[in-house]
Amino acid sequence: MKTILTGIRANSVLTLGNYLGALLPMVRLANKYSDNDEYQVNIFVPDLHSIISEVDGDLQENIIRTLKYWLAAGLSVGQNVHTYRQSYVPAHSELCWILNCTATMGETSRMTQFKEKSEGRDSVNVGIFDYPILMAADILLYSAEYVPIGEDQFQHIELARNLAMRFNHKYGEVFTVPVSTAEQVKFMGVSEGIRIRDLLTPEKKMSKSTAAAGSKIMLDDNPEVAAKKIMSATTDSFGKVKFDMWAQPGISNLLLIEALVTDTPLQTVISTWAGETRYGELKKKVAASVSQMLSEFQERLAKISDEEVFLLLGMGEDYANEVASAKLLEVQKVVHLR
Ligand code: ATP
Ligand code: MG
Repeated sequence: MKTILTGIRANSVLTLGNYLGALLPMVRLANKYSDNDEYQVNIFVPDLHSIISEVDGDLQENIIRTLKYWLAAGLSVGQNVHTYRQSYVPAHSELCWILNCTATMGETSRMTQFKEKSEGRDSVNVGIFDYPILMAADILLYSAEYVPIGEDQFQHIELARNLAMRFNHKYGEVFTVPVSTAEQVKFMGVSEGIRIRDLLTPEKKMSKSTAAAGSKIMLDDNPEVAAKKIMSATTDSFGKVKFDMWAQPGISNLLLIEALVTDTPLQTVISTWAGETRYGELKKKVAASVSQMLSEFQERLAKISDEEVFLLLGMGEDYANEVASAKLLEVQKVVHLR
């Protein structure tokens, strides 16, 4: 069976951008592929990645909530879908160390995420520098070929591929090399990554770490509050609805959100609103769609108990430890640690 692997950090409540750009597409992919016995899907909470930066609130609560998000977004955990917490599978950290000794300072320093996250700071923790290597371990331990992920992580997939190939070249075919990012995109069935924009500064992407509350819709926002944020979204002075992310990012973002939230093809939404001059009308519709989506999501979320989550984790972690320890032992043997 081929393995599909993905995870979302549990640092805080997620945004609508995380939901539409990551959670929902991955859930659809997982459900689609795990149906037959050709693929298995690993959905994990990268909790070791969570502590490289400040955690908002209580990490334990965040971890459980993140798992509930997956379930509320429609993930059907069954025979071929496994959920686990990274830190409950010690092989991740162990393989990370061994891969550290394969990677170079040059290639890790080149990572855009590292540059962005360390820019302008006097002191940067080593975790921020090293996490792409841990991410490579996360993938390689399970021989995952497909790692559906946002475009901001593409560079890290390429790094994981390079490390796997280098290791294999030196020690023999130990690792399955994940497919290239171009192939990943094809596999995900999207022409390009989905990028929801910041509501107040639509030139930027919506991020959970942005300070301004009006910039982002959080999955735990009161649906009415979320609707107000849409009504206050920054638009432009063209006075005509047109999908053009470059010239009219605010309006285009609203059209994209409407399409994704109502599960309507973007082209259909674009033609429905083409030429509309009253931005308020479009905003009202998007606000209603978003608040309805949030109410339904929150209703589903409330029904998922902690017990249910722990039960799934227990099974998933048994599976993960078995697979990961076997791969780790193989690695330890070839580098003569065993
Ligand atoms: P941070 O500000 O802490 O980096 P973030 O909102 O960018 O938070 P990440 O934890 O970096 O979220 O990413 C989680 C997942 O959500 C990734 O797969 C990422 O590609 C996706 N993602 C993040 N922001 C958006 C967005 N605005 N639109 C679509 N997908 C997004
Ligand atoms: Mg980010």
